[in-house]
Amino acid sequence: MVTIPESHPRYKSLQKREKIVAGIEAGITSRQGLIAHGRGEAFDYLIGERTLPAALRATEAAAALLLTAEKPVISVNGNVAALVPEKLIALSTLILAPLEVNIFYWTEERVQRIVAHLERLGATNVLGRDAEPRIPGITHARARADTAGIYAADVVFTPLEDGDRCEALIKMGKRVISVDLNPFSRTSRYATVSIVDDVERALDNLIALIRAAKLSTVTTPDFDNQRNLSAVIDEIIERLRVEESGC
Ligand code: ATP
Ligand code: MG
Repeated sequence: MVTIPESHPRYKSLQKREKIVAGIEAGITSRQGLIAHGRGEAFDYLIGERTLPAALRATEAAAALLLTAEKPVISVNGNVAALVPEKLIALSTLILAPLEVNIFYWTEERVQRIVAHLERLGATNVLGRDAEPRIPGITHARARADTAGIYAADVVFTPLEDGDRCEALIKMGKRVISVDLNPFSRTSRYATVSIVDDVERALDNLIALIRAAKLSTVTTPDFDNQRNLSAVIDEIIERLRVEESGC
């Protein structure tokens, strides 16, 4: 990996790029994952590379949903395995939810590599090796689900999800939490709770909220996803207006 000085104005962003490139070199992330990451970066630029107030409200709703779930599962793709593996493992330990490897550009080898990567970092409950096409209405590899994992889950945490799988999971009666920087994506529109934030910031917030909530009683906030997505878009527009006026 290239060493980037912390003083660089784009330090965090460049570090994420390095992680994605390292993920590709390690056979964990697909090359197409680079493009998905770039789409995310573009939205993060508009957002101002920080957590919007409405994104934090969605993260609070997500924390409550995960803490009250009976069978929560965390879905892991090649990008998040490269960007935030330790944070996914921490979340999995906190809410006692398995991690399930689920990738679009599926090869058995890449699944094995992601599982090994997570286990090397300390994960003890990783599913996905035995996943079979079980999600109705999906014709590509992400139809795969593990019977002990996503197939049986009531709440699925899916950072960087595909819109069609998100819709199919909802049709199966599951509640879906997405993390996607694009508030217009089909994923954001279909999810039960859409966190429009960078996956790293979202996981830091989610883990902190869950740790704090564990010490007190969990209340499910009154949350309307469509209204919250509109609030996200309003906050982005407001930020761009301020930028434009040079304030
Ligand atoms: P749709 O949900 O409309 O089907 P898509 O599947 O076409 O969207 P992809 O191009 O597959 O979207 O990319 C996945 C999504 O992940 C993009 O919308 C992008 O904004 C988002 N994304 C990429 N990197 C990050 C990141 N680091 N944090 C959060 N979201 C990200
Ligand atoms: Mg997609």
